[in-house]
Amino acid sequence: MKRSSLITIAFFARGQNINSPLQKNLVFEMLFPEGKSKAFVLSEDDGPVEDRQLIQLLNKYEVKGTFHINAGRLKDSNTVNAEEIKTLYKGHEVSVHGYLHKGLGKVSRLETFFEVAEDRRALERLTGDLVRGMAYAFGSNNTDNLDILQDIGIQYARTVEETHSFDIPENFLLWHPSIHQLGGAHYTNSTTKLNEKGLAQFFKLTDEFLGLDKTGVFYVWGHSWELTDKWDVMEKFLKRISGKDDIFYATHIELVDYIHAYRNLIYSVDKSMIKNPGSTDVYLRFTDYSDVDNPIRKDLCIPAGTTVNLNCTTIKK
Ligand SMILES: [Zn+2]
Repeated sequence: MKRSSLITIAFFARGQNINSPLQKNLVFEMLFPEGKSKAFVLSEDDGPVEDRQLIQLLNKYEVKGTFHINAGRLKDSNTVNAEEIKTLYKGHEVSVHGYLHKGLGKVSRLETFFEVAEDRRALERLTGDLVRGMAYAFGSNNTDNLDILQDIGIQYARTVEETHSFDIPENFLLWHPSIHQLGGAHYTNSTTKLNEKGLAQFFKLTDEFLGLDKTGVFYVWGHSWELTDKWDVMEKFLKRISGKDDIFYATHIELVDYIHAYRNLIYSVDKSMIKNPGSTDVYLRFTDYSDVDNPIRKDLCIPAGTTVNLNCTTIKK
């Protein structure tokens, strides 16, 4: 969808007067950048050497990845090197996975603080960039300690609990993914054969997402080491999911930033004016049910730093 077609709005020019009801019967839904209705996120843990091959594949299909790294384990022979972090993951996201990969479900608050803060600090030094996200090692978390993550500046934290859905979670610090890559939750190590049932389920969910006609996020997680003898299957998946006009291919933090930008929109009481105070263009879809038999549905862009008046005919940035 072209942006220019989104920012011309003439639909409320008619009939607006002082006797209009206090609020129009409008329903707003978030769209992603450029008016896309769906988002895809791929999240990979542990920083194994196989990340190198995976990144080549992601770059080939122009799909972004989020990579959760344990900075305290980068001397291990089966992980990437500290020196290559900045260049290897360029264009993707580097994110916290705990300095020493400790499950946070059973450690003290002090250890939780160290695991997260030290990893964040080290990764920021290695990347030369802000690191603001996280995946729980072993998926292990303690809901009593989420305030620690917040204090450290973590803006989302991914679990390993599969939802088999495309919903955006209420709590970004307990972000449950849609599914394990290739349905891999059922195999235990890299030499185990693919679980055919899990794989079929994975591709079924992929096709469900591709056919989805409302806002949704397909969130796939895994480890690149799982792909050792399954690169062909992973490539088949990337071929299927990539290159779609209605999908926003994002890192996890890009998705979070965009959702915050959408939620920061300010509406007038009668909903006829919408202000975007941020620095990101925000897209939304609204349906006007003023005439319930003939609802009007439109997609709209609220450019960064502007106020859109739905009564006006044309919006200029
Ligand atoms: Zn891990």
